[in-house]
Amino acid sequence: MICDVAVIGGGPAGLAAALASGGAGAKTLLIEREGRLGGILKQCIHDGFGVIRFGQKLSGPEYSQRDIDELGKSSVERRLLTFVSRVHREEEGFTLTLSSGEGMDRVRAKTLVLATGCRERTARQVSIHGTRPAGVITAGAAQYYTNILGRLPCRRCVILGSGDIGLIMARRLTLEGAEVIGVYEAKSTPSGLSRNIVQCLGDFNIPLHVGKTVTRVFGRKRLEAVEIASVDEAMKVLPGTEERISCDGLVLSVGLIPENELAETLGVILDGAARGPLCDQTYMTSVPGIFCCGNALLVNDLADYVSETGRAAGQNAALAALGKGAFGGPAVSGSPVAGDCLAALRADSNFLCLVPQRLNTEALEKETAVFFRTKRERGKSLVRAESEGRELFSRTYNQLRPPEMERVIIDFSSAGLKKGSEVQFTLEEKI
Ligand SMILES: Cc1cc2nc3c(=O)[nH]c(=O)nc-3n(C[C@H](O)[C@H](O)[C@H](O)COP(=O)(O)OP(=O)(O)OC[C@H]3O[C@@H](n4cnc5c(N)ncnc54)[C@H](O)[C@@H]3O)c2cc1C
Repeated sequence: MICDVAVIGGGPAGLAAALASGGAGAKTLLIEREGRLGGILKQCIHDGFGVIRFGQKLSGPEYSQRDIDELGKSSVERRLLTFVSRVHREEEGFTLTLSSGEGMDRVRAKTLVLATGCRERTARQVSIHGTRPAGVITAGAAQYYTNILGRLPCRRCVILGSGDIGLIMARRLTLEGAEVIGVYEAKSTPSGLSRNIVQCLGDFNIPLHVGKTVTRVFGRKRLEAVEIASVDEAMKVLPGTEERISCDGLVLSVGLIPENELAETLGVILDGAARGPLCDQTYMTSVPGIFCCGNALLVNDLADYVSETGRAAGQNAALAALGKGAFGGPAVSGSPVAGDCLAALRADSNFLCLVPQRLNTEALEKETAVFFRTKRERGKSLVRAESEGRELFSRTYNQLRPPEMERVIIDFSSAGLKKGSEVQFTLEEKI
């Protein structure tokens, strides 16, 4: 099969990308390894999705169903239960190797959208010692057992990490009759959104312990207990603070990492901070013709923003495949974003990450969305962007917290940016 745009991943990012690409007139193929579209939202049965996009509080499945319904009315082709195992760069596009129940297959596409989501950190990635009993699971796996399979993964559990999925699972497991002993967070402040701390822990009297971590697990076949200890600012265990807590479940909510295995094999340059591909405002990566969006690009806390980046990536992938707009000329190889017209967005060390990291100066528009997170919690702060002494953006925030991703709209089109220009972002706390 030959298509203009291949979108890999059928979560909210991939759905939005496929819809936008098909809507822009490109022959589009959406490939998803699971049997149903919707990505991780299939298992997020709580509400809170779609407030920005639809002005309504939807559950995850309700949110994604809106795009799935639209997809049904579009010309986008889809392949489910199909895994993209490999992608090759060709002179004029890409060849994808697909693996499904029907065997191996090949598809050629002029441009690609990577919408492969993110994965969860596991126990081995956070140095927990001891045996490997059943009952030590990631929060996403606990969510899958509870919400999709209808099985309770544990009866008395400890949650390690205060990421949003862990907080949501603390409430969910409590509602299903499990005892959640507490949420333990090694850092001095929680990692989840403030509203989740209140609604998931406070409202259910589930204690949150900061400055503590799990250092060891006990049990041969099934988890029997965990060892908890206090840590200092550098995350070093304070000797003598260890305590043993009996439980049959340890639920890990210790971070998400953008899923970029395919991107790496294609030579896409990754950003050390956001951990997704470096991209410009069209969501084109460092490899012409490859676009990226959603959690594969940077870990989002709102599905609404995931869909926003998906729409933009899909639309631009279509324009690049069709040689239109800022991507005039032959698709992919003639794309101007091969480095000849890039300006750089630079963030000072007070930012955790900032996306996009570059601007295609041939495609500047009046409204460009820039996403960022602060490195640490701050009070009243001023965020500014300037280029060659000219201020392009400035906003004062009453508070900035690392778990809350900020989105700002900036007009870069009238700033006279050209190849090699730099836009410097600064974040300064105003005491
Ligand atoms: C366990 C978990 C729970 C979450 N819960 C919440 C929540 O409650 N609320 C919230 O706002 N956010 C939640 N998030 C964040 C959530 O991931 C985003 O809001 C959103 O779902 C990200 O959309 P996405 O399309 O980028 O990725 P995903 O929804 O993860 O979709 C990626 C899709 O790509 C497919 N895929 C990956 N690789 C391939 C391949 N090689 N071939 C074919 N298909 C592939 C996957 O099967 C998946 O369907 C959660 C994240 C995780 C990991």
